[in-house]
Amino acid sequence: MNQFAKIPSVSRVLENQRLAQSINEYGHSAVTRVIRNHLEILRQQVSDGVDLGDKDEIESGLIRQVIQDLQQQAVPNLRPVFNLTGTVLHTNLGRASLPPDAIAAMVDAARYPCALEYDLETGGRGDRDALVEELLCELTGAEAATVVNNNAAAVFLTLNTLASAKGKKQVIVSRGELIEIGGAFRVPDIMSRSGAKLVEVGTTNRTHLKDFQGAITSKTAMLMKIHTSNYEIQGFTHAVPEKQLAELAHKSEVPFVVDLGSGTLAHLEDWGLPHEPTPRESIEAGADLVTFSGDKLLGGPQAGLLVGKRALIEQIKKNPLKRALRVGKITLAALEAVLRLYRNPDSLQNKLATLQQLTRPQADIQAAAERLLPMLQSALQPLPVSVEVVLLNSQIGSGSLPVERLPSAGLSIRSNSRKNGILHRMEAALRKLERPVIGRIDNDAMLLDLRCLAHEDEAFFIRQLSQLAQMPIHETK
Ligand SMILES: *Cc1c(COP(=O)(O)O)cnc(C)c1O
Repeated sequence: MNQFAKIPSVSRVLENQRLAQSINEYGHSAVTRVIRNHLEILRQQVSDGVDLGDKDEIESGLIRQVIQDLQQQAVPNLRPVFNLTGTVLHTNLGRASLPPDAIAAMVDAARYPCALEYDLETGGRGDRDALVEELLCELTGAEAATVVNNNAAAVFLTLNTLASAKGKKQVIVSRGELIEIGGAFRVPDIMSRSGAKLVEVGTTNRTHLKDFQGAITSKTAMLMKIHTSNYEIQGFTHAVPEKQLAELAHKSEVPFVVDLGSGTLAHLEDWGLPHEPTPRESIEAGADLVTFSGDKLLGGPQAGLLVGKRALIEQIKKNPLKRALRVGKITLAALEAVLRLYRNPDSLQNKLATLQQLTRPQADIQAAAERLLPMLQSALQPLPVSVEVVLLNSQIGSGSLPVERLPSAGLSIRSNSRKNGILHRMEAALRKLERPVIGRIDNDAMLLDLRCLAHEDEAFFIRQLSQLAQMPIHETK
């Protein structure tokens, strides 16, 4: 029989009852498109000389594949994962998990019209920044505040506004602070793109007030301090305190700007965490402008917050680039809700998801590991691996407090043979689960740090482990 004659027509496949539900769910045109793709593959196989076999088998195999493709295509690309990496604020996994108050506010803002730029007192036009400005001022002690898309944008906009005037573009920064954050954000690059001219002073490990003094000229636009978020210089070091830099800047009649990076609005040491500098401390030390992120230790949505002197904030808001970098209503809704939580530090640990994760006691995490151990053992039972509860160290992430570690616990999976290929196949299989599980391989173990697995998600975590049985973990290449 002519092999081509075995291939069914599109209309014939569409009429197959087994596809009726798919057509209902995904629509006629989507189903048709997927059928066409598969028919094309069959035709290609025939051209390559393949015998397609039994005619009825071809059609039923085709339908199985079409349904599978449609199901796969329906899975959203941006979907939840279990962050068991041990890094709480994981940039590649979306940083802070938002608290319920913020989620509720986002849903309302998404669903209903809202007074985003509408003054409900006068009925006139409002300013979207005003929704959070008062809160930010209250929480930082600043005179004024504004918000942009992220902290990189806040730094860029600050430089572009305050350090791009002809003949006054120089920004003086210590050599120890010329940081790179996650590859794409590098201080020297942001400087040059913004129109500012970087003037490096001091050395990698030591910078003194006199270094700054000696660099100030009539071309100086500002003095800048950048928080070295993601690394720490230890040993024979010196950095100039903010207070001295502020005094020097003001004597020279230029602003002193601080990029705090993470920044948080509470005293983390109150919860036994290491101290992280706050915007209020910088403002009190005399900083004229402070920038920080919304989704690092603050525990809010992606945003860049700028707080400081009213005149500078006004100038920044007049920059046409501010319009290009502004945040949307959903971000503002979440940010306002999170900022409100900081008004009452006593209930913050209860309400702010990020703080809850960061302060979760090791014993509590270990208890979760003990609970999950038998389930993971039985899901992996056919495989030549051993699973055990281990004590781990989590890190905060997003460049916050890079050398601090949080005592944690989790599950470790080790290969019973000396070959570790199975761990890599296991890692890949965990990523293919309905809600992908992201762990890490460290030395000879696949580690699942359970700090960020919420108690209420444990049941789901366990249920989907049964899917592992169908995955090609055992296979050797
Ligand atoms: C994280 C960070 C940035 C970038 O902030 P995003 O909100 O990620 O854009 C800039 N500066 C410092 C010091 C940082 O730590």
